[in-house]
Amino acid sequence: MTTSAEVGHGKAQIRGFRGRLIGLDHPDYDSARAVWNGAIDRRPRLIARCIGAADVVAAVRFARDHDLEIAIRGGGHNVAGTAVCDDGIVIDLSAMRAVRVDPAGRRAWVQGGARWGDVDRETQAYGLATTGGIVSHTGVAGLTLGGGIGWLMRKYGLTVDNLLAAEVVTADGKFLRASEDQHTDLFWALRGGGGNFGAVTSFEFRLHAVGPTVLAGPVLWDATDVREVLRFYRDFVRDAPDQLATVVRFGAAPPLPEIPEHLHWRPVVMVGSCYAGPIDEGEHVLCPLRGYLTPLLDLIGPTSYVDFQSALDSTVVHGWNYYWKSTHLPELRDELIDVIAGHAFSCASPRSYMAMFHLQGAVHRVAGGATAFGNRQASHAITLDAVWRPGEDLGDRDIAWTKRFFAALGPFRDGVYVNFLGGDEDPDRVREAYGDSVYDRLVEVKTTYDPDNVFHHNHNIRLRSASA
Ligand SMILES: Cc1cc2nc3c(=O)[nH]c(=O)nc-3n(C[C@H](O)[C@H](O)[C@H](O)COP(=O)(O)OP(=O)(O)OC[C@H]3O[C@@H](n4cnc5c(N)ncnc54)[C@H](O)[C@@H]3O)c2cc1C
Repeated sequence: MTTSAEVGHGKAQIRGFRGRLIGLDHPDYDSARAVWNGAIDRRPRLIARCIGAADVVAAVRFARDHDLEIAIRGGGHNVAGTAVCDDGIVIDLSAMRAVRVDPAGRRAWVQGGARWGDVDRETQAYGLATTGGIVSHTGVAGLTLGGGIGWLMRKYGLTVDNLLAAEVVTADGKFLRASEDQHTDLFWALRGGGGNFGAVTSFEFRLHAVGPTVLAGPVLWDATDVREVLRFYRDFVRDAPDQLATVVRFGAAPPLPEIPEHLHWRPVVMVGSCYAGPIDEGEHVLCPLRGYLTPLLDLIGPTSYVDFQSALDSTVVHGWNYYWKSTHLPELRDELIDVIAGHAFSCASPRSYMAMFHLQGAVHRVAGGATAFGNRQASHAITLDAVWRPGEDLGDRDIAWTKRFFAALGPFRDGVYVNFLGGDEDPDRVREAYGDSVYDRLVEVKTTYDPDNVFHHNHNIRLRSASA
């Protein structure tokens, strides 16, 4: 048997493993350890790229036998870079991307390394969808396990509200199915509690009739109109039907093909909308927003849901550097709008931005403790995103911008979404993401399924002995 010190050198062996083992001297080592956030530079001893659930079981057992720290990789998209660790083993599910759809039963089975683009493409072949992220290269696993917000959430709930079952390899290398009937405590915890409870090899989702053509797109106003636009937006979304989801982006207009060149890099407020209902109904609902002041550009129109889901992909490219601060916010009072207007456009990098997701609707109507997703009362989830390309000297300035902005939002903060937490957060922010009662219940489930905190390379639910 390989000793712990030998792991990662020479030809690595895991008994019964059928996928690829990528050690320190493998030619693909550097590309295999890279994650979406280029600012993360970690060197695991071994990357175990699994091709099935049996590989995941074998890798977890191997890691435990050799006392190796474990990181689990789904889509590799988390800004904190928790999908890769130093010196341990990455249990990498990124080759497990299969999606199977039962159109009659309106269900989909999705492997643990799939991305949202995989799910949207397969489900939309039948005119179906479930709530997923707004960037198609985001991983299904990490997003789902943290809760899952997106264009369909106000109508159909969070991603976890559509989760019917999950297949999980637990810390003792056992394979379990968690659902409303089996391991119900684990199923509750997986719906928001992140990667703390095991490696999920497969998800089963409920699907809904969506599109394939939806009314969607952004409207852009000049940044100097930010106060007026936000006041109008606050009142507009307060009474909006659940079918309408909006995300506001504050920053320089990205050079997307749909945006005319003369507007590229101009500071703008961009309200993105997606109407999950009949097109003519959506036209009527969106009319006041489109008619407010004089927008610089109105790109709302009938569009393919799959295309819309990837419209922002090129603004958040793999390998650029990212640093996020995040919080939930309550309704946009005038004083809060003043804080946003005062900070949103003072970043140095033209690629940095603030994004604000309008929550409420079906997200709010699920009872607080029904799943492990916290803070369902909040109105908006925001991220302050510093973005700079490799070689650009803008990182320090924009990291400082996010921290200043975040501090100014202090009096308004109302919880946080765990999946938007960065890598250098105070551990108390994980508790903030859940609230005390959900967090305490997560600790109990963690104690049952992972009493040694084997799965700790994440936004960790700390066991009682460690959390005092
Ligand atoms: C550009 C961008 C856009 C985003 N947009 C949205 C959005 O619209 N909505 C939203 O809700 N979130 C969004 N997010 C946040 C996203 O939900 C998280 O980054 C999430 O962690 C990504 O999942 P992943 O599988 O790619 O994560 P990874 O980086 O692979 O993993 C992150 C963590 O998730 C856990 N994990 C991953 N895979 C598994 C698995 N198979 N089993 C068990 N645990 C696992 C592990 O703890 C791991 O450390 C976005 C992120 C980015 C960077």
